[in-house]
Amino acid sequence: LTAPGQRFEMDRVDIRCVQTRVWKNAPPNLRAIAEAGRTHGERLFTIYEDERVTYDAWFRAVARLAAEFRERGVEKGDRVALAMRNLPEWPVAFFAATCIGAICVPLNAWWTGPELAFGLANSGSRLLVCDAERWERIAEHRDEMPELATVFVSRCDADPSGTERLEDIIGAPGAFADLPAADLPEVDIAPDDEATIFYTSGTTGEPKGALGTHRNLSTNILSGGWSIAMAALRRGDEPPEPAQKVTLLVIPLFHVTACSAGLMGAVVAGHTIVMMHKWDPVEAFGLIEREGVNSTGGVPTIAWQLIEHPERDKFDLSSLETISYGGAPAAPELVRKIYETFGALPHNGWGMTETMATVTGNNSEDYLNRPESCGPPVPVADLKIMAEDGSQELPAGEVGELWARGPMVVKGYWNRPEASAETFVDGWVRTGDLAKLDEDGFCYIVDRAKDMIIRGGENIYSSEVENVLYDHPAVTDAALIGIPHKTLGEEPAAVVHLAPGMSATEEELREWVAARLAKFKVPVRIAFVKDTLPRNANGKILKRDLGTFFA
Ligand code: AMP
Repeated sequence: LTAPGQRFEMDRVDIRCVQTRVWKNAPPNLRAIAEAGRTHGERLFTIYEDERVTYDAWFRAVARLAAEFRERGVEKGDRVALAMRNLPEWPVAFFAATCIGAICVPLNAWWTGPELAFGLANSGSRLLVCDAERWERIAEHRDEMPELATVFVSRCDADPSGTERLEDIIGAPGAFADLPAADLPEVDIAPDDEATIFYTSGTTGEPKGALGTHRNLSTNILSGGWSIAMAALRRGDEPPEPAQKVTLLVIPLFHVTACSAGLMGAVVAGHTIVMMHKWDPVEAFGLIEREGVNSTGGVPTIAWQLIEHPERDKFDLSSLETISYGGAPAAPELVRKIYETFGALPHNGWGMTETMATVTGNNSEDYLNRPESCGPPVPVADLKIMAEDGSQELPAGEVGELWARGPMVVKGYWNRPEASAETFVDGWVRTGDLAKLDEDGFCYIVDRAKDMIIRGGENIYSSEVENVLYDHPAVTDAALIGIPHKTLGEEPAAVVHLAPGMSATEEELREWVAARLAKFKVPVRIAFVKDTLPRNANGKILKRDLGTFFA
């Protein structure tokens, strides 16, 4: 297990042993995950408005749709696209496709018609399952996708030409339970067979399809099992059977985090997922109270909105046990705020589309001691910090590019050999994030490499300044960008959003930053937005759109 003289960490060795056991129980294959879900029978799987679907009903619909896909000629390796908001039909179509060895291509539901057409054509999908709103956007582009033979549309009153109604095959979610019980069609699937293409969220450049395997997607279950097991080991118990929990799913399922951490984890453990049509903090409070939600999460802004909302105290939120966040740098202050406001455990996780979600998690008792950290790597992952030119590994404490390795790292990009060769090197993924590791292996994300501002040779990490702005009581959202400067190259400028009913002037905020950070980091200009900052579908601020505030 360890070389002579090497530091020996007992905890970590114990955890790896537990992993093996969890792995045996949950083979890295989405068919096995679906079969595990089937055993939860009458437990509630999804709640969406007044539609309540049990695990048994969901599995009936999966088996029915999988059989239909086979009848329509979908073979192993064929692409089946899925374009819809978070709806109960999403996990039906997802498992129906992947359980017969097809590659599911979840498309971003906020994409426009041309973007959706790009995803369909780029993946060469032969079958599409979508909701009516998505079809309205895609329809006029149909001739750009010669390979698309079949379209099933759900929640559509009329029957748009060239499509079929999903409800005619599986019924409406409220009636899944009336479908006959059936097994999945027989198909052999190996852990390293391809299962998904998730497009990178594209804050820069054209989206690339990350080609994920069954093993990649299953890996999160091991990591989830790990945190349960770790808590038990600390108490000296055997790892317990996970209790049924209720999760409010805020992030879209077409993002890997929701699909791999949220959906896979729920199906294996028999948890209930509450879905929302659209993010709204007050609606979220109502659902947490009504359904007794235990966990929720998303990008840090979502957690901030829950904490700072003036109507929060009108609701009983005492069922909340965990609030997870990731996807963007978070102010360390958030850890304490979550803990104090909800008595819930804050959980900061780092991952990216190319790693099918979680690689690190700060969910041990260290979260309060190291609130700036997104945690150590999960036991099956390795991290290293490399010089930015990739020439050498850097020691603890030094900032460089984060590289990650483990069973969650995807095979590469779909049909993009050059981009794949640049990003995936000897089993490692070059993340493009600037980070450091401490002596104990905890990871600290400093910035996206391309978000770093260089002012006359001085590096300014945008997240550092954003965190200071977030700490100001009036600020709920903040982004720092570089604006051009004749001699310095660029200078920092900020765009902020103030909490309802609060005020702060540009000068006041500049003084706030100046009192806490070096002078060269103080934004030379600050713009205020009335509404929210422009974000992509996954909640990441579109920094490239912010330059217009200072044009
Ligand atoms: P995506 O592929 O859309 O999931 O974006 C992945 C990127 O989000 C990472 O490369 C990071 O820049 C950022 N990110 C994800 N999780 C965290 C986190 N916990 N802290 C800071 N940045 C994060």
